[in-house]
Amino acid sequence: MIMFTLSEYHLNKKEEFREFAGKELDLGDHFPRENLQKAAQKGYLGLPIPKEWGGQGEDFLTYILFIEEISRVCSSTGVIIAVHTSVGTFPMLYYGTDQQKSRYLPGLAGGELLGAFALTEAGAGSDAAALSTTATTVDGGYCLNGCKLFITSGGEADIFTVFATVDRSRGVKGITAFLLEKGMPGLTSGHPEKKMGLNRSKTTELRMEDLFVPAANRLGKEGDGFQIAMSLLDGGRIGIAAQGLGLAQAGLDFSTAYLKEGEVSGRKTEQSVSFALADVATGLEAARLLVYRAAAVKDSGMRCSKEASMAKLFATDTAMATATRCMDLCGLSTALIDHPLNRFFCDAKATQIYEGSNQIQRIVIARELLRS
Ligand SMILES: Cc1cc2nc3c(=O)[nH]c(=O)nc-3n(C[C@H](O)[C@H](O)[C@H](O)COP(=O)(O)OP(=O)(O)OC[C@H]3O[C@@H](n4cnc5c(N)ncnc54)[C@H](O)[C@@H]3O)c2cc1C
Repeated sequence: MIMFTLSEYHLNKKEEFREFAGKELDLGDHFPRENLQKAAQKGYLGLPIPKEWGGQGEDFLTYILFIEEISRVCSSTGVIIAVHTSVGTFPMLYYGTDQQKSRYLPGLAGGELLGAFALTEAGAGSDAAALSTTATTVDGGYCLNGCKLFITSGGEADIFTVFATVDRSRGVKGITAFLLEKGMPGLTSGHPEKKMGLNRSKTTELRMEDLFVPAANRLGKEGDGFQIAMSLLDGGRIGIAAQGLGLAQAGLDFSTAYLKEGEVSGRKTEQSVSFALADVATGLEAARLLVYRAAAVKDSGMRCSKEASMAKLFATDTAMATATRCMDLCGLSTALIDHPLNRFFCDAKATQIYEGSNQIQRIVIARELLRS
């Protein structure tokens, strides 16, 4: 069992990231390219990538602290970087050949390239094994046909880790991972979906029509894809949990400041208000412990599926509950679409859904508990 307190090093890093996020991130309504560039200049797009591949060689926990702090300011930037790093760059780091590593990792870690992950399809969301995108063997490689849905950074990313089946009759053993590059003939993105939140993060379809992929762009062996996807999701889920922490902290910060101020200051002594604030703050600290512990377990090299799912489930539910309670505390104006708490509320909802819905996290946790 790993017990958890942040070291002085990690506390300093967290402070550094908070300062960066507070000073440098903008809050526009467009894709946050400038935020990504500023993060890239500081090396933050490759925090947990080893130095030999152009990254910063930081541990996973440091990266998690970064996602928490940027999500506190701009949760769209948070999810774009979380996807870019954990499921957009780790695939090559963990499973790539030396050639694939040298071709992609320095650009991804340095932020010249943006990474994305394409697993979900119509009818294959929670049940990813049911995917129907096909990869047919052709001379020199594969021909891919199919359509992925709800792909974060779909129209913006440069490199996509995509999952397709080489033989549907083999079930999960036919699923294979491929590295696709923006601009490959036959690869197109749809229009950004109109979502309730995370509006700066572009979410699109990704279509593959007679798309030729060289054999050198297959990641791992034929049939390894499902295991690759599932193993990446452990790290990905801790990243989304950290996004939940950032959102919950932002909600708590806003409400505390609001209740301390001006004409509402009298309300802070009401017991219902103080109880609600205390519950929100306590839930957030509990979530934080779960998230940091999951990151520490991952850093230790131990299996972290249960810890990652617990962290994702609890932290994203906490983000949603915090936004809801803070809206209640701060009143009528929070119903306005441009109100910060309204944004936190809308952004928090998606965190309960992606990288495996919170129902799926419960299934993972129970399965891990029942393993013999
Ligand atoms: C903003 C956003 C960004 C996303 N980005 C990406 C991305 O970059 N790449 C990518 O591949 N995907 C992405 N997704 C897709 C996301 O991972 C899926 O939406 C998610 O896995 C759920 O799949 P689904 O929507 O098809 O729901 P379904 O699988 O159809 O599930 C519907 C409901 O049933 C529940 N459910 C399903 N199975 C069970 C079960 N066995 N037991 C109990 N309840 C169950 C689910 O929890 C959910 O509440 C994104 C989604 C969103 C909203």
